[in-house]
Amino acid sequence: ALTIGIVGLPNVGKSTLFNALTRAQVLAANYPFATIEPNVGVVPLPDRRLEVLAEIFGSERVLPATVSFVDIAGIVRGASEGEGLGNKFLANIREADAICQVTRVFQDPDVVHVEGTISPRDDIETINTELALADLQTLEKTIPRLEKEVRGKKADQALLDAAVGAQKVLESGTTLFRGAAAAGLDPERVAELQLLTSKPFIYVFNTDDAGLADPAMQAELRDLVAPADAIFLDAKFESELVELEPGDAAEMLAENGQDEAGLDQLARVGFHTLGLQTYLTAGPKESRAWTIHQGWTAPQAAGVIHTDFQKGFIKAEVIGFEDLVEAGSVAAARAAGKARIEGKDYVMADGDVVEFRFNV
Ligand code: GDP
Repeated sequence: ALTIGIVGLPNVGKSTLFNALTRAQVLAANYPFATIEPNVGVVPLPDRRLEVLAEIFGSERVLPATVSFVDIAGIVRGASEGEGLGNKFLANIREADAICQVTRVFQDPDVVHVEGTISPRDDIETINTELALADLQTLEKTIPRLEKEVRGKKADQALLDAAVGAQKVLESGTTLFRGAAAAGLDPERVAELQLLTSKPFIYVFNTDDAGLADPAMQAELRDLVAPADAIFLDAKFESELVELEPGDAAEMLAENGQDEAGLDQLARVGFHTLGLQTYLTAGPKESRAWTIHQGWTAPQAAGVIHTDFQKGFIKAEVIGFEDLVEAGSVAAARAAGKARIEGKDYVMADGDVVEFRFNV
């Protein structure tokens, strides 16, 4: 499963956020494939469509898609020097498919800031610098190795070009996430190099009430990290919210002037950043969201349910979610001509309600 690694300086609220994520976790019993590890939090992707489907189909339960977060560790200035970032840290962060940096915005004289002052801009710079230095160290080994392999015709010149180009971008003080495209580097080649700063980034700004009510400050930080996504939440508040019954939590959110919990926003944005989307299936047993990559075809999507569905794929009956809700039932949607029969080349759209036909 794809995972998002949580990083940040010490004392910014990573543990608080991660604890909230693990308490919001899905029940493992419903997701037998989800491995339970202490540093992984598997949270449901909020999807109001599932409740609607459950009503139409009389489903016994709903099963949302999930997003996995890994608690990686704190990074401090200078971490990439001397001992290096640490093998365990590097292995964890390399395995993550996207990186979520928690940044402190909240003011609290009782919580010490490692750098002395609260400056999201400086903190982001510190983390980016450490990750970039780690990438440069990797490239110092990779480039000579690739040069040798290219001479021996064991590696492509294009991969070596990407490595040299990546080194230039990093030396100019930019992460690859920001600078690789502008430098004209081939994204697939860069991805092969497995560098930390080429992964998609999400920024969580851990904010207090004053910050949550300050759109100008938020806009400034959004600009600072664009094109990465930014989420503003209060980690302490989120950790209290997950302790409440859904109804009480909704009430508390409303009192706070928010219409969605920060954790839900994070799950949604994370899912999108990972390049994922969902399609839906529904019946009396369950209404369920299935996770696929954007751009996947119908047989690939069927394979997520069962490999036999992909191998024996014949066709898919697809009804758009909105069309199904408008018609009120599958039979009515069919009668209205809203149920489409799609073949093996069909590219799935988010929110397709699907029934696959297959040979066994
Ligand atoms: P980590 O080192 O990044 O994992 O940070 P922690 O989650 O351990 O938080 C460090 C301290 O800051 C703890 O005392 C938390 O209770 C506190 N803290 C975390 N988030 C918030 C917040 O949103 N507001 C305030 N006031 N304190 C927070």
